[in-house]
Amino acid sequence: MKCELCLQDKILCHSHIIPEFFYRSTYNDKHFMAKLTNGRSKAGYIPKGQYEKLLCADCETFLNVEYETYFDNLWYSNKTLPTTFNEKVFTVNGIDYSKFKLCLLSILWRASISSRDVFAMVKLPKKHEEQIRKMLLKKDPGEETLYQIFASLLLSPGTTKILDNLIVSPMMEEFENKQVCTFVFGGCYWLFVIDEQPLINPIAISANGNLNFPVHDILDIKPIMSFFDGVEKDSIKW
Ligand SMILES: [Zn+2]
Repeated sequence: MKCELCLQDKILCHSHIIPEFFYRSTYNDKHFMAKLTNGRSKAGYIPKGQYEKLLCADCETFLNVEYETYFDNLWYSNKTLPTTFNEKVFTVNGIDYSKFKLCLLSILWRASISSRDVFAMVKLPKKHEEQIRKMLLKKDPGEETLYQIFASLLLSPGTTKILDNLIVSPMMEEFENKQVCTFVFGGCYWLFVIDEQPLINPIAISANGNLNFPVHDILDIKPIMSFFDGVEKDSIKW
């Protein structure tokens, strides 16, 4: 079968869409999935083990070695992601812009090519899918204005505790006349601009390796909370 990344005819592996290390802190696979009764069948908590045959072993290893290992080490092993936070802005300097951005773009790209229901809302236009595929292979993150990514650090309701045990289905939305795709994993609400033109004055990931993420209580992020319409807020175990 054809590998989606290198396009060669090879034996395919079971590929993760969202890398497994983001699930480490989701101690319980289904801790509130059962409570989602709002009828949005394609939105909800993503349980562990969402993989499908997409990539050959060489490409799996490539994504892991080039991008995922860096992100995992930065975010978790080096404890860049705090466990609690009580400032308004989360700032990190000195990140490897290329590896950091390409890891995130690889997740967006995998979600787009996936046929799993939980990623059904993410379908990039083919030209963007193809452009990102080439960027991944060439280790080319592009200018910071290309496929801008910005994020908010998420806090559990009414606390200073980082909400790192939540992974929900990504969504496509309109934001300031551009198509954006949003994800929740790694303690953050990520927003990808699916456009070659940047949003004006965003706090995007910068090519000089600086992150400046605003910090938000999850109850203030309306698109995420729309998943929980009709659910008694106190019944959700964040
Ligand atoms: Zn391949």
